[in-house]
Amino acid sequence: MKRNFIFSAWLLCSFFLFFGCRTTTDAPRPKYVFLFIGDGMGLAYVTLTETWLAARDGEHGSGNVSFTSFPVTGLVTTHSANRLVTCSSAAATAMSTGYKTNNSMMCVAPDTTTTYTPLTYPLHKAGYRIGVATNVSIDHATPGAFYAHSVSRNRYYDIGSQAAATGFEFFAGSGFIYPVGRENDQPDVYRQLADAGYRIVRGRDGALQLAPDAGKTVLVQNEDKNTHALPYAIDRSDDDLTLPLITQAAIRILDNPNGFFAMIEGGKIDWAGHDNDGATVIREVLDFSDAVAIAVEFCKQRPDETLILVTADHETGGLSLGRDGSYTLRPTAYDERTHSMAYPATEEEREAVREIDKKAHVAWTTRGHTGIMVPIYALGAGSERFAGKLDNTEIPQRICALLLPE
Ligand SMILES: [Zn+2]
Repeated sequence: MKRNFIFSAWLLCSFFLFFGCRTTTDAPRPKYVFLFIGDGMGLAYVTLTETWLAARDGEHGSGNVSFTSFPVTGLVTTHSANRLVTCSSAAATAMSTGYKTNNSMMCVAPDTTTTYTPLTYPLHKAGYRIGVATNVSIDHATPGAFYAHSVSRNRYYDIGSQAAATGFEFFAGSGFIYPVGRENDQPDVYRQLADAGYRIVRGRDGALQLAPDAGKTVLVQNEDKNTHALPYAIDRSDDDLTLPLITQAAIRILDNPNGFFAMIEGGKIDWAGHDNDGATVIREVLDFSDAVAIAVEFCKQRPDETLILVTADHETGGLSLGRDGSYTLRPTAYDERTHSMAYPATEEEREAVREIDKKAHVAWTTRGHTGIMVPIYALGAGSERFAGKLDNTEIPQRICALLLPE
């Protein structure tokens, strides 16, 4: 009961906090909005992948992932409230609520008590169906910030257990890291979701069999698979759930005449970046691109009503294309690698990957994140509002200006 009261009070207070940032607009208004977040996907990741695509086809220059040809592009500043180099939860808070917070916090202000409401809540209240999807766990930093609040992104149970009460129509990912708490002593998150009317659908087959308009759905990996994340694209088996399959499922569940908002995260681009694992980065960006391509097909059916945004929360790894005075790149050097780096990786494997980086003429500056601006690509109704330089807090403000006119 106390928890419900706190939750309601949180909703009420931060509802007004959020609405304070609404603006009017004469721009075309979309009804169907996709926000794709490539976690860690800095511009060098996109360029490396596109040069690899060209080189694979025996060409010199740049190939095309599905979103770089979008007509509108911009650059996004990503700093958090307390650091010039953000973490994913602070960046996702900015992109979901329009407010900056400190690294490691999720939809909670730096004062640790004020909470911020993700845009998903007012959008849901206004009649849009809501989807929150990722290829890592649903309680992870980026997806979490689109439905939950927590003083620490590491409180996975606290975050996951807030999903059931949202009433949002679609959640998807590998699963929940601690569905019954870290000590296995909490009410089961899956049980809470089922009690709230959600259907739990598992794996690739479950995704493919989802009927259109099937009602509130949680799509997760099969029980015998790793629930911390879906496998990297470079490692996957034929029976694995994938981000493109999740995107298809999201459209099936969310499509309706009143519109929808779907946040879809490519979460493992960042993980490969933390490992400084270029071959895995390329495959993850391509997989993310395949997921965006599905939204592009949807947009072709309803070009005047659909907005697709593709961006990143920050850059990871300080990826540099060119090194040691060389004026070349050889991205096909990464073809040597046919699997991701083991976790935890041995020093021997790390050294082998560093040698491939040298052959590719690619370098990394850090195993963490960096503070460089990230690109945003926009297609469809209202896309022109995302041109130029903007701060990550302006992304939800501009989405709300389009979807929630005064
Ligand atoms: Zn990261």
